[in-house]
Amino acid sequence: MTQPAANHSLAAERAWDAASAVPDPEIPCVTVAELGILRKVVVENGVAVAYVTPTYSGCPAVLAIELAIEAALLDAGFEARIERVMSPAWTTDWITPEGCEKLRAYGIAPPVKGSNSKMALFGETVVNCPRCGSSDTQKISEFGSTACKAHYTCRRCAEPFDYFKCI
Ligand SMILES: [Zn+2]
Repeated sequence: MTQPAANHSLAAERAWDAASAVPDPEIPCVTVAELGILRKVVVENGVAVAYVTPTYSGCPAVLAIELAIEAALLDAGFEARIERVMSPAWTTDWITPEGCEKLRAYGIAPPVKGSNSKMALFGETVVNCPRCGSSDTQKISEFGSTACKAHYTCRRCAEPFDYFKCI
């Protein structure tokens, strides 16, 4: 995956490659770039600066993510700094199509695009089962394995699964 928009220096590209490969600590099947958490990496005077927008400000994984990105940049030979960008706020629309596919393969229903309204948080969205594809699903609880996910069950294949909530 290439960096969305940035300076095109070789160093910045290398720094992006290192940082973007970092897996999400909670969902290790997707990278921070695929989740859209890593916004860009610039290199200023030999220091790689990674711009990170956390999914949820209350998500305890934020610090772990930032440390992992910093470590990846250090490994790649850069001095590293993390800039936390809170605005614009992260939305599930920033998850790349590859990221959504990987979430589905991992058994997490990816967010339904364009449903990130307030109502979507209250179960108005039809969530398809990531295993059998059935839309006959039921929300069990607002919080799944992490605060970012809701817990669902599929009425067709009876499998419980997590849904990555839209925000
Ligand atoms: Zn199912």
